[in-house]
Order: sequence, then structure tokens, then C-alpha cells
Amino acid sequence: MAKPAEFEKLPFIIAGGGLVGLCCAINLRRAGHEVVLIDPGDIKRAASYGNNGQFAVGDIVPLAVPGIVLKVPGYLLDPLGPLAIRWRDLPRLVPWLLRFTAESRRERMEAISAGLAAMCNLIHFDYEPMLKAAAAEHLLDHTECIKLFETREQFDLEERKYGHLRERAGAQYELLDDKALHALEPEIAPQFRFGAIMKGRKFIRNLAKLIDAFAELLRREGGSVVAGEVADFERADGKVVAVRLNDGRRLPAAGVVVAAGAWSKRLCAMLGDKVPLECERGYHVMLPRGGIKLGRSLTIPSRGFGIVPMEEGIRLAGTVELARLDSPPNFERADRLIANARVILPNLKYDGAERWMGNRPSLPDSLPVIDRASRVSNVYYAFGHGHRGVSFAPTTGRLLAGLVAGRPSNFDMRPYRLNRL
Ligand SMILES: Cc1cc2nc3c(=O)[nH]c(=O)nc-3n(C[C@H](O)[C@H](O)[C@H](O)COP(=O)(O)OP(=O)(O)OC[C@H]3O[C@@H](n4cnc5c(N)ncnc54)[C@H](O)[C@@H]3O)c2cc1C
Repeated sequence: MAKPAEFEKLPFIIAGGGLVGLCCAINLRRAGHEVVLIDPGDIKRAASYGNNGQFAVGDIVPLAVPGIVLKVPGYLLDPLGPLAIRWRDLPRLVPWLLRFTAESRRERMEAISAGLAAMCNLIHFDYEPMLKAAAAEHLLDHTECIKLFETREQFDLEERKYGHLRERAGAQYELLDDKALHALEPEIAPQFRFGAIMKGRKFIRNLAKLIDAFAELLRREGGSVVAGEVADFERADGKVVAVRLNDGRRLPAAGVVVAAGAWSKRLCAMLGDKVPLECERGYHVMLPRGGIKLGRSLTIPSRGFGIVPMEEGIRLAGTVELARLDSPPNFERADRLIANARVILPNLKYDGAERWMGNRPSLPDSLPVIDRASRVSNVYYAFGHGHRGVSFAPTTGRLLAGLVAGRPSNFDMRPYRLNRL
């Protein structure tokens, strides 16, 4: 089929070069579009760089769960807790928190969980061909994550609340009693006496290399990556006709994808869409010389973080801090990760530790937006992936390219529509 003439000449411009933007760009290129991806090029700014790298298989419980609203005062009072809200950012966060509260009703939580499950179930299906095409299969560590508890009762308590949702989504565990857990991971402190291996929950062992490999794949397939920051859109007849960068460059465009993670809100506002996107910040501490052998990644629900044996060292990463995009980091939160890790892995070494903060792009219902813009016909959105953006990036790219092509699909896109917000 002949391509429309405009696509022969002008590119689709993708704003944002994290994993979501890259996967959108690769899929659009494969659909026959000219593609230019714009990103400032500071890889450490992207959430895609510093996260846990885990495939969120079975991770179908949203942040807003029944009863969470009663915990909000505690989140405000303990700035170092697993979930914290910055006091001084509270006025700005109120609209997000109100929506978040509404999403925590049981019926909403169950519906949201189904939307998360649909994407979680596609993680391996969409990742494997992308890793192969990018010659990056070696970056996927095939060991599966252990969810760690002090007692069997803690695990049972969590399962009583959410086990039915996980079961519905096909999530599977292999349970480890005290003996089996310590036989598998002898470095874990004796007070942790129960574990559950989360089947399919593998991880990416070097996210910077994955970002580079996907950018290289895009270039090899004929797309380009341009260093810059999208600053404005030029519109005519209900379409974006060009994108302006902050250094004044003007790039004519056939279409635009906003995939700028936590920075997408401002771009959407320029395009006439007000979205309740805020940052759930996370921190990491990278330990290049951890000095212990850890065979698998760990996630510790009671402390809200994970421990991952990555290529460059052991990474402690996680927790949630609701704050404005431009608020300075609170690295005491990273130090708290160290204090928590000492309890779990007493022999871990901390010399050469590096601390990092990143912004999870977060919508109140924990679901991303994968949709068209409401007021401009040739603009598409792919943002708001919260805690699961590494995992959902390849599926998002494929679904977005399908939307652009107007391809009929029996995959239910309603949970990810803009007009739900
Ligand atoms: C501590 C932590 C742990 C996590 N663990 C996991 C995990 O185990 N598994 C998982 O699936 N997810 C995890 N996540 C979530 C995941 O990291 C994010 O959901 C995901 O990286 C979001 O990707 P993105 O491409 O949308 O945004 P980003 O990676 O943030 O990329 C956005 C890019 O857009 C650029 N940009 C900003 N403004 C503009 C502009 N105007 N023009 C052009 N470019 C612009 C930015 O510089 C950035 O490079 C974690 C996050 C954190 C913080």
C-alpha cells in the first residue's frame, strides 16, 4: 500500500528518550514512518536509568488500595518512610491526592488491577523480540525475584488481601521456608524466615546499556536521535505542523508522540490537555563493591524497596516520595535504603556507594496513558507508567504504533485512555 505523501517527507517526532519513547520510536519506524527522537541526552535524568530493572510480572496491585487514605497523615509525618509526601509540595499535590483517594475504592482497584494485568501478561511476549533485535538478550538476567518476609504470617496477610487479584492475573509463586530460603541465599539475615519466588519476574542487569542498545537499534533501522528539548508546538488546522526545541531549532513534523515521562504534563498542557501527572520519586544506592554473592534479586514489601545484583554492582532501589518535579532530592532517603539493607544483608559493603534520585511518572490510578491527544489530531501520548515503565515499554510502543496506524485490535485499550482522567 502506498504511504500518504506527508509521511514520505516529514518525520514523527518523539519527545522523550527513556525506554517508553525509544520503544514508541522503534515501533513507528517499523511501521514505515520517518522518526526523529528528541531527548536532552542526560541519561541519568531518566527514570529508565536508575530503577530496579524488574519485569513486573504479577505486579497487579495499584498504589491506591482501600484504606490507604487513612495512612496519608503518617506519610506526611515520616519523610524517610517507605512512602512519604513532601509537606511543602502538598498544595500542589492535593488534586492528585484527591483523585488517588477516589481510585482506592475496591471496585476501582479491581478494575485498575485488570488493566495492569493485561499489560503485565505481555511483558515477555513483547520484550523478547526487542532484546533479540537489539542484540541485547544478554542484558536480561533469567533468575527470578524473591519476595522476602520475616514470617510466613506476613506473606499470608498480604495474600489474603490481594491474592485473588494475582491469581486472576495468573501470577505464580514458589514458596521457600526458612531452610530453603537460606540454602538458596545464605547472605540473607536469619530474621527473614520466609520467601516467595515470583515466577517470571526477571530483571535487566544494566539499564544504561539497554537504553543505548534500543537507541542503536532505532538508528540502525533508519530513525534518528537528536539531542535537545521540546519547548513548543506550532499548530495549524488542528494539527501540529512543527516542533520547536529550546535552542530555537524548528523541526517540521508529520506527527508527535509525547513520551517524556514525568515531564509530559507540561507538554500535554501546551497541547490543550490537563493531566493529573505527578512524580513518585524513587532513590537508589549503587554498591560497586558489595562484597557478597547474591544469586537473585530481592523485594522487601515491608520496607518498600528492592536489592538487585546488577552488572555494575548491587543496587538498592525503591521507595516512594510524592514531590514536585523540581523539588531538590532528599538523599537521606537513599541513606535509609542503606540502613534497611544492613538489616537484610549484614555482610554487604558500602564503599564507593553512589546515590541517585529519579521521577516515576505517576497518574493517580497507576495506569499509563496510551492514546491520542484530545485537541490535536496528529499527536499521541505514551506516559504515566509509574512503577512499571521498564516492563511496559515494549508493549506500549507496539500498541501506540497500532493506534497511529488505526489498526483494528481486540486488545482492550480503554483502561489507558486519556478521557478516564
Ligand atoms: C527507584 C525506581 C525503581 C523502579 N523500578 C522499576 C522496576 O523494577 N520495573 C519497572 O518496570 N519499572 C520500574 N520503575 C519505573 C520506571 O523506571 C519508569 O516507569 C520508566 O522508566 C518511565 O520511562 P519513561 O520513558 O516514561 O520516562 P523516563 O525514563 O523518565 O524518560 C523521559 C525522558 O524524557 C526526557 N525529556 C524530558 N522533557 C523533555 C522534553 N521537553 N523534550 C524531550 N525530552 C524530554 C527526559 O530527560 C528523559 O530522558 C522504577 C522507577 C524508580 C524511580
